[in-house]
Amino acid sequence: MILPQRAQRYAEGPQRKAMKQILCLASLIVLAAISFPPKSSSQAPYDVVILNGRVIDPETRSDAVRNLGISNGVIKAISTSKLQGHTVIDARGLVVSPGFIDLHQHGQDEENYRFKAMDGVTTALELEVGTGDIDAWYAQRDQKSLINYGVSAGHLAARMVAMHEPLKFLPTGDAARRAATDAEIDEMKQQLERGLQRGAVAVGFGIQYTPNASRWEILEMFRVAARYGASCHVHMRHAGVKEPGSSIQALEEVISAAAITGAPLHVVHIQSTGGPATPKLLQMIAEAKSRKLDVTTECYPYIAGMTDIKSAIFDEGWQEVFGIDYKDLQWAATGERLTKETFSEYRKTGGMVAVFSMTEEIVTAAIKSPITMIASDGILENGKGHPRTAGTYSRVLGNYVREQHALTLMDALTKMTLMPAQRLEKRVPLMRNKGRIRLGADADFTIFDPQSIVDKSTFQEPAKYAEGIKFVLVNGVLIVKDGQLQSNTYPGRPVRAPLNSN
Ligand SMILES: [Zn+2]
Repeated sequence: MILPQRAQRYAEGPQRKAMKQILCLASLIVLAAISFPPKSSSQAPYDVVILNGRVIDPETRSDAVRNLGISNGVIKAISTSKLQGHTVIDARGLVVSPGFIDLHQHGQDEENYRFKAMDGVTTALELEVGTGDIDAWYAQRDQKSLINYGVSAGHLAARMVAMHEPLKFLPTGDAARRAATDAEIDEMKQQLERGLQRGAVAVGFGIQYTPNASRWEILEMFRVAARYGASCHVHMRHAGVKEPGSSIQALEEVISAAAITGAPLHVVHIQSTGGPATPKLLQMIAEAKSRKLDVTTECYPYIAGMTDIKSAIFDEGWQEVFGIDYKDLQWAATGERLTKETFSEYRKTGGMVAVFSMTEEIVTAAIKSPITMIASDGILENGKGHPRTAGTYSRVLGNYVREQHALTLMDALTKMTLMPAQRLEKRVPLMRNKGRIRLGADADFTIFDPQSIVDKSTFQEPAKYAEGIKFVLVNGVLIVKDGQLQSNTYPGRPVRAPLNSN
């Protein structure tokens, strides 16, 4: 408590002290009451009611047993009295949280959405790599999506278009390797601008995949993002601690770009890029925030990353950059650890490889930091990939909250719901109705057992559903019921910025 200066001059008598304690207690009770006021609008039956759950809302930091009424996909009642509904969910003993919002999910098809839903994710956004055709991307998922979806305009895609390389997930030809001409940079700017006019949520960057993209080229892309108030979701230019070319230098580049252009910056998977430098990167971001720069970041709870073996990340010298060797790479398709021979063989064909470059201490420090959000960086293809796709959120709640006590349940849920919603809501106003439990908010819910929630996916078996998530609702529709995924239901809606916004 901060006392006014004049009051501080007088010594506190015992009476005054007791009075203050009573006042403190009284204000706490009042605060608790106003932060989660019981509300009920009518007695008509709701489409869905969720009864007796431990309702946690990170925005008001309230945590209390309440009943919820939902109609037309929206929260209509938050009450201590019994509510009637056509569908009744008994959430006794379970936590009722806003649905988890994943800012970094590459896999955006039915297979991936199933695993996200079973991990509690109700909104999955592809903001790092993004796409080159916003309209086509949204059209492909219209009325066909289990969960809410959205995408950024990608610098990688813009570069592939400008350099006439066929569009792929990551560039491997000219767009990956050479510097751009001024004309090509102009073409990339136009590509991003078109995407933003068509409602792209953000602008995505994978600078490490385009090592010859100049600092000027990156600044030019940030300038476009700034004009549209779009956050730049950046996989930074360098990883690790080795200078020159450290992750610290890479973070300086993008914080500078944000300061120069005014574009909001979001640094993706800080722990896998930072490695041992992660605490320093987190300090730099906290300092930039204290100077009023709009900089945020995210992490995922695993000691290995995963990427394409053909990408520029594995160019000459990668062992030194990551501080690892062939044995620290695991071929995703078979689970085998690599050797010098198999590395060069697979490098020719391409494919996903897990990179064991982090320690548990680094990962825990990143998850605990008050400035990180949780985001998965997930993608599964025919059941192959990284366990983070299916287990990121349940792993944080089971391992880091319940088992390790590394952070509180409230703080963990804040990183999964409110913080990602706030990251995007200036450009995408509909995000103001996500990540919160309040009247009028979207009825996206994740309802789980905090005592049993656990990730089951592993590096050997990445396609295993998490357990302990009992019910998931997307826009008021049950997609997980009694721990079982529901079939033939597609309540997911687009998360998209207003068209032609400027
Ligand atoms: Zn990345």
